[in-house]
Amino acid sequence: VPELPEVETTCLGLSPHLLGRKITRIIRRRKDLRWPIPDAVELLLNQRIEALSRRAKYLLLQAESGSAIWHLGMSGNLRILSADTPIKTHDHVDFVLDNQTLLRFNDPRRFGCLMFQHPGETHVLLKDLGPEPIATASLRDQQALFFDADYLFRRSRKRSQAVKHFLMDQATVVGVGNIYVAESLFQAGVRPTRPAGKITRAECAKLVKAIQEILQFAITRGGTTLRDFLAPDGAPGYFEQELFVYGRAGLGCKNCKSILQAADLGTRQSHFCPRCQK
Ligand SMILES: [Zn+2]
Repeated sequence: VPELPEVETTCLGLSPHLLGRKITRIIRRRKDLRWPIPDAVELLLNQRIEALSRRAKYLLLQAESGSAIWHLGMSGNLRILSADTPIKTHDHVDFVLDNQTLLRFNDPRRFGCLMFQHPGETHVLLKDLGPEPIATASLRDQQALFFDADYLFRRSRKRSQAVKHFLMDQATVVGVGNIYVAESLFQAGVRPTRPAGKITRAECAKLVKAIQEILQFAITRGGTTLRDFLAPDGAPGYFEQELFVYGRAGLGCKNCKSILQAADLGTRQSHFCPRCQK
């Protein structure tokens, strides 16, 4: 699943190939992805691309007439290809550009989407998103809320929900997926099952620091795969060998050697160290 670092990397990798280019043709090979593709995307025809930015895990391709909003879903990817590249299975949408290239969306599982936002409008998908965890290069909009210890402490008060779910809620902070939340909780020494409202001010500070460091690290690593965005089969890699708890239940803690445990929190398991995490 593409997480925030991969989406950021995609955004940075695609931007130079898109900025200033004119969209000469829009090819939709299906009517819907996760949701129907609105006909309004045709408003982007013959428009120049002014910006590509990221908000949460959405990519916004902006022109004067409005913005295309992409989400990569579970298995989607956007690539710049030569305009004569043969179509493969699951190539659903092409934006043909004025320089013999195209932006192609491929998504085998079709949990991704392509939506449209009119100028001055905020699409419903973007309306209730919490602050960004880190200020990254591709973010354009000034934020009303900042993700810091004060914010996290205030927002978590009186909440009985498990801290893991609280942090994965896009209204709390965007883009903290399953891997990143598990690793951040380990680094901050907090058990995933703790009620959010019981997290101390000091722990909030540690969590913010951990989340920011881990995401920044992943973005930096993702940056090393930028060249792949021109290759049809390139895919950004994770950092499996650097994981401390995610997917390691039953194995020894890299810090204290205790056997890592799995807490059952809804549909997904959360791995933690019974000694390092309180
Ligand atoms: Zn440990």
